[in-house]
Amino acid sequence: MEFLYLFSGFIIAFAIIKFFSKNNNFKLSPKNRDDEDESKNVKWTRALNLIQDQIFILNKSKNVVFANAAAKNQFGSKIVANHYASIIRDTNFIEAINNIFENKKNSSVNSEINFPTYQFFKANLYYIEENLFDENFTIMVVLQDLTDLLKIEKLKSDFVANVSHELRTPLQSIKLGLETITDGPAKSDNAAKQKFLNIMKNETNRMDQLITDLLTLSKIEQEEHKRPNDKVNIKNIINIVISNLETLSQNKKIKISNLISSDMIVLGDQNKLIEVFYNIIENAIKYSDENKEISVHAEIKDDFVEIKIIDQGYGIPKTSLGRVTERFFRIDPEKSKKIGGTGLGLAIVKHLINQHRGELNIKSEINVGSEFEVKLPIAN
Ligand code: ADP
Repeated sequence: MEFLYLFSGFIIAFAIIKFFSKNNNFKLSPKNRDDEDESKNVKWTRALNLIQDQIFILNKSKNVVFANAAAKNQFGSKIVANHYASIIRDTNFIEAINNIFENKKNSSVNSEINFPTYQFFKANLYYIEENLFDENFTIMVVLQDLTDLLKIEKLKSDFVANVSHELRTPLQSIKLGLETITDGPAKSDNAAKQKFLNIMKNETNRMDQLITDLLTLSKIEQEEHKRPNDKVNIKNIINIVISNLETLSQNKKIKISNLISSDMIVLGDQNKLIEVFYNIIENAIKYSDENKEISVHAEIKDDFVEIKIIDQGYGIPKTSLGRVTERFFRIDPEKSKKIGGTGLGLAIVKHLINQHRGELNIKSEINVGSEFEVKLPIAN
């Protein structure tokens, strides 16, 4: 990836140098030369404004004589005519600029800035001997913004750390159980042995569920660009999900009503949509006290069917509303683990809805309940 960036940087520099050497070959009278230089600068500006990398050009006093549109967009148009250090004060960058002014050798350096916004970039520095913007020589700086790549790298390493942590917790509990049964106090106590065996069984199930959810999530992510387009009846899907969750809802004496009155057909994949509504309605049961009610409604709006699942549960704090679909995010991790959650259910839901080109909106009030709205494209 970095090679590609570096390569594209060299191509840009090469094109620019070529352009100049070609145009400098003309023999012109002084007046014509001025006109020619001016029109060259205009063409230059136009060409460099098309490039998405942030580019600026420094004169021998290290002042900015030109900034392209991307650079102005990032640093503001007042960067032109200012000293470069008023834009980037990173020590690596400053050192690289000093070096190129001294030894005239192209170089590149990784830098980061916090102002005006955080940005991590590779700065490619080019020494340009041609007469550019009326200067004898200039230094061209091409900033390749790598902030998104850095974020992806961080997400990846956070994810690995999270998965390891999630798997280690039940594993430690199983290890402790085994030690207690084989060499510890439960060795000759059958009742204690049984208790630890039950704990170990639950923890093993949790690890199994976690791995199943992780594999599901990774498969969905791979398929997210393929939009499913079978015709699926939402009323039937909700009936199937309610019947699959019958034991769980009966155990908590929770009544679930499917209030969808007519058949509403969406474009989708039956099994994937069952998974979406299973996760949402299972959560509505898990995060509600006994004897509460859950209702499912649907209506057609424009080109979408809007399905609402309304519960009378614990609710979600406003500050967490935007985060519940993140992997492993739980409002109360201990409570959620006891209830049997992996923290991946709503992440799976979000990706499946994205795959259907639908939308998920969540409203909630603490101790009143939550409303999960799923919008799916209608089938005509
Ligand atoms: P989990 O496996 O922990 O249930 P989810 O991704 O399904 O993970 O949900 C993430 C978190 O969002 C849950 O841990 C819970 O705190 C909260 N949550 C989800 N649905 C509801 C709901 N209907 N009511 C209250 N809180 C909910």
